Amino acid sequence: MKTSNHQPKILIIYTGGTIGMIENPETLALQPFDFSHLMDNVPKVKKLHYDIDNIQFNPPIDSSNMDPSHWRDIALAIEENYDRYDGFVVLHGTDTMAFTASALSFMLENLSKPVIITGSQLPIGEVRTDGEENLITALQVAAAVDERGRPRIQEVAILFENYLWRGNRATKMSADNFNAFKSFNYPELAEIGLDIEYNTLYLRQVPPRPLKVCTDMDCNVMFLELNPGMTEQTLDYLLHTPNIKGIVLKTYGAGNTPTHPWFIKCIKEAVDRGVVIVNVTQCVNGGVNCSLYETGKALLDVGVISGYDITSEAAVTKLMFLFGQRYTAGMVKKYMASDLCGEVTIP
Ligand code: ASP
Repeated sequence: MKTSNHQPKILIIYTGGTIGMIENPETLALQPFDFSHLMDNVPKVKKLHYDIDNIQFNPPIDSSNMDPSHWRDIALAIEENYDRYDGFVVLHGTDTMAFTASALSFMLENLSKPVIITGSQLPIGEVRTDGEENLITALQVAAAVDERGRPRIQEVAILFENYLWRGNRATKMSADNFNAFKSFNYPELAEIGLDIEYNTLYLRQVPPRPLKVCTDMDCNVMFLELNPGMTEQTLDYLLHTPNIKGIVLKTYGAGNTPTHPWFIKCIKEAVDRGVVIVNVTQCVNGGVNCSLYETGKALLDVGVISGYDITSEAAVTKLMFLFGQRYTAGMVKKYMASDLCGEVTIP
């Protein structure tokens, strides 16, 4: 792997999660690891000969507690340090990692340096941990440059075990396998084996423009996942959630829903009230094709927009981001049907 001639300078942002746990030698209990002692606890990192600094969440959090205020803290830390570092490694719990990766991809406009998010299934302090390897590979990816000395990765990516995935395309797919993430609708950015093999054709290349950080997110959005037997009362109740502006409607297959007149009527009324409803499939692989079946087409006719092959994590954070920019419902619909930073394939 090629790195630039100067010593790579990497900032680690440690937010918490399983990766940061280590055994207390006296009590034997797992406790959060102090990353200011990174080199003592993971001595292999020294062999990279990088100049590494770190910032820590105080206290570190389980990623189930992540919310837009934490995404803002991460984005602002990157903005403040953008010119001083070659790359950024964010250590994060796995549970909501795909949401954070998606949110950051929207918040960090014109990003042209690597932001590599990683974590682990076993604490870094355990003998058989995957955390040490993930951390070291993430640092290497964050430092990697191409033949012309430009960062290999110029986007938010998730590094986990054998793969590097585009952050806003990835999903947590396993609660216990070391290969915990996958992007079902976009190829891996790199495969980690004996070497780190970059999938050059699929890497994001951005024209050089100043980084623009927009951290306002609007939380008046939600998932509405269909299940057979959902009653009109339930659907109508959910669609009337107070202050709701955007809904990711998790539909069946290629974007299908029941065609009962009451179902379409409830959805139409919500759209007419100004709620932006995005059709995203419950399937992990493939996307929504509203013109394939009558059921999907009925939604399109009442103003539901297609999410195409976007992940639900990216769809919900994109809605938060767009409403956070105070766009009108019409503008939000327009941007939901556009690719902002590699999150969706528009046919
Ligand atoms: N609950 C943990 C978290 O997301 C799980 C993990 O890190 O794997 O913070």
